[in-house]
Formats: sequence, C-alpha cells, structure tokens
Amino acid sequence: MERTLVIIKPGTLQRGLAGEIISRFEKRGLKLVAMKMKQLDQKILDVHYAHLKEKPFFPWLCDGMMAAPVILCCWEGFEAVKVVREMAGATNARKAVPGTIRGDYSMSAQENIVHTSDSLENAAIELDRFFTPEDYCDYPSPLNSYLYAPDEK
Ligand code: UDP
Ligand code: MG
Repeated sequence: MERTLVIIKPGTLQRGLAGEIISRFEKRGLKLVAMKMKQLDQKILDVHYAHLKEKPFFPWLCDGMMAAPVILCCWEGFEAVKVVREMAGATNARKAVPGTIRGDYSMSAQENIVHTSDSLENAAIELDRFFTPEDYCDYPSPLNSYLYAPDEK
C-alpha cells in the first residue's frame, strides 16, 4: 500500500471545513495512519515549497500557510498518491473540476484547501519532513476485503 501526505491548509481550518475534508478521504476508503496539528514556520516552508521560491506569490503563499495551524495527515491505500492527488483537483481551484475537493470548496489558486504529494518519491520525502516513525499508528484493517480485491495491495 502507498502512503501520501495531505496538509489541511490554515484557511480550511479557519473555515471549519477540516472535518469535512478528512471525511472525504475516509469515505473514499483511504486509511488514516498518522495525523497531527502543527504551526508551520518559514524555515519548513522554504524547504516544502522550494520549487516555488522564485515565484512572485511565494511570500503570500507562506503567509497563508502560517496564518493558523495546519493538520498533517498520512493516508494509506492502493495507489494512494495518485488517488489523493486526483481527489484534490487542479491547483487553481477555479479550474478544478466540480467533485474534486478544490472544485467543491475553493475559488482560489492559493487558498486551495489542501496540499497533496505529487509523486510516490515526493510523498516519502514530505512524510519524512513532517512525521517521525513513532507518529505512525499500526492498527487492523478489517474492512480491507470489502474495499479491495486480493491483488490490490
Ligand atoms: N500557488 C499559488 N499560485 C499559483 C500556484 C500555486 O498561490 O499560481 C500555491 C497554491 O497554494 C499551491 C501551492 O502554491 O497549492 C503549491 O503549488 P504547486 O504548484 O506545488 O501546486 P499543488 O501541488 O499544491 O497543486
Ligand atoms: Mg505541489
């Protein structure tokens, strides 16, 4: 099973939508294996959004990500990285398809509800950025035979 990082962004928490967003991943059949609340700082955002450092919107993005705490979630599932990324929808929420998280809850290219890892390789790097091995919870998945076929693992 793959693991991927979702960050419930500060604006989502402020709008009282965190539970609703978490619920969408649960209902899809993904398994929550680690979760914590954290106030992000400039140092960690410089690393997490290093690919955007030269963009004119970078300071606004960081301000938005530090405006309140975030909720960090690790979701586990068969091909979870792609599934979660597609659930989030296009970065610019005005272009995100209705039915996606961004397409249902946001009007912004910046304030777009969630961060999701964009590849299996980056998911591993990002999970290590925010979680330690002790943060992960190992618990039974008794519904797996109802969620998956035997070869979907
Ligand atoms: N972002 C922005 N303006 C843009 C593009 C991105 O404010 O034109 C912000 C937005 O919050 C986005 C984050 O920067 O989620 C990271 O950008 P990335 O290209 O990695 O998009 P994502 O992977 O989040 O879809
Ligand atoms: Mg990205």
